[in-house]
Amino acid sequence: MSESNETEGGVGNPQNVLVDTDPRSESVPVGHDDALSLPYTTLPDFNAVVGDLPKMDLATSEATKEWLIAISEATQCLIRGNVYTEAARREDSKWSQFIMDEAGKISAGKPKISPSQPGGSITGESALFKLSSILGTGGIVQVPLWHTGIWVSLKAPSESALLELDRRMAREKVDLGRDTYGMIFSNSSVYIKQFLINFVLGHVYNSTLKDFDTESLRTLISVNDYPTLLWGILCTIYPKGYPLAQPCIANIGTCNHVSKAHVSISKLLWTDASRISDTQSKHMFNRFRKVTVQDLEAYQASLKTTYVNIKITDELYLDIRVPTLDEYIKSGMQWVNDISNMIESSFKESLKGAERNTYMTNQGKVTALRQYAHWILRIKLGEDGGEGVIDDRGTIDNMCSQLSAVPEIMDAIIEQVGIAIENSALSIVAIPNYECPSCHGEQVTGEGDALHRRLIPLEVEQIFFALTKQRLIRTLQHAEL
Ligand SMILES: [Zn+2]
Repeated sequence: MSESNETEGGVGNPQNVLVDTDPRSESVPVGHDDALSLPYTTLPDFNAVVGDLPKMDLATSEATKEWLIAISEATQCLIRGNVYTEAARREDSKWSQFIMDEAGKISAGKPKISPSQPGGSITGESALFKLSSILGTGGIVQVPLWHTGIWVSLKAPSESALLELDRRMAREKVDLGRDTYGMIFSNSSVYIKQFLINFVLGHVYNSTLKDFDTESLRTLISVNDYPTLLWGILCTIYPKGYPLAQPCIANIGTCNHVSKAHVSISKLLWTDASRISDTQSKHMFNRFRKVTVQDLEAYQASLKTTYVNIKITDELYLDIRVPTLDEYIKSGMQWVNDISNMIESSFKESLKGAERNTYMTNQGKVTALRQYAHWILRIKLGEDGGEGVIDDRGTIDNMCSQLSAVPEIMDAIIEQVGIAIENSALSIVAIPNYECPSCHGEQVTGEGDALHRRLIPLEVEQIFFALTKQRLIRTLQHAEL
């Protein structure tokens, strides 16, 4: 990403954040001992102070141990590749938990499930949703997909569906990209993302898209809405929030406080009001009106999320677009298949186990640009494509493999895709920074005003895994057969 606004500790433009409801609260009772560790600061700020860690007298007290565990878990939830840090401090941005239309507030919420008359009957799935929502064990949440232009109503997954997801992911884990640690939309863990996308889409109960099915959602939903979808599923599972543990890193060496609170997951989605036009908010305001594919095309065109004629060198230009979930998954699967096929054709005896994994990882590295191929709409040779325009997927993929061998070009393309990711982000999942209650240290010196706080973008996938794991362990311990 661009480093232009970096100063010491990664503090850049002050952010314009309106915290309507603080997701953190000290006073809500919770029913169990598990906690979600979330970061106290952003990745650049964390990296700036992590060098101070040796100053600590490690592994001495229980408090230090607890702090170290919280640090390690919280660091996992820092967003990889520092994605959205630039978006969060975009000039003139206005991040808030809702969008204000002249007709009222727009934000995620529970769709109404009620009998047609008071005391009337509700049956079938509606009755089950109502029950789980009363018990607080989950329910339905209607989520705005701002990058796509639709609402989806997600229903809470059952314990057995979560168990099944866990089992499938453990079995099919293809760890191509664990150490490349690419940005959020890189293809490095395409299998995992494919499972999660199918899982979430399988829990869409309703949508404002006319005549929708899983397939049409996959081909229409913007990849930028993937974090929102996963966050939406978490909102259905934890309608009352979750215990929170945040380790202080404001004064490493003197403070090892772990702040215990409660986090309302439903308050962690932020939308940039400065990027939502009146026409776009009108399109989204009515959350029950059915929209057609044509309506969506018009809405998405108004977001201006194609970046044309991006110069990489004098002879190489790109048109960059925001891909859909389907384009993203196909591109990633194609990459993994291509590597796999190459192994089959280059070795008489097929490689197995660890040897195969190492070879795949290495092949992944030498074709690393393929991770971003789905963001490239066209490759143009010569100024304005005068020497040829490539818009065939297979050829774009092959060219990305070839260009991976030229580090300057690969870096320049990745940088431009990164800029497109930051630029096209309209909503992000993040937690505001806060002051440590023990040392009163704040990692960044913001405006000091409660209305002007800083957002720490979160890795929603990681939060999903952490919470699911704790939930499954708890459920299995509790169940006696
Ligand atoms: Zn502190």
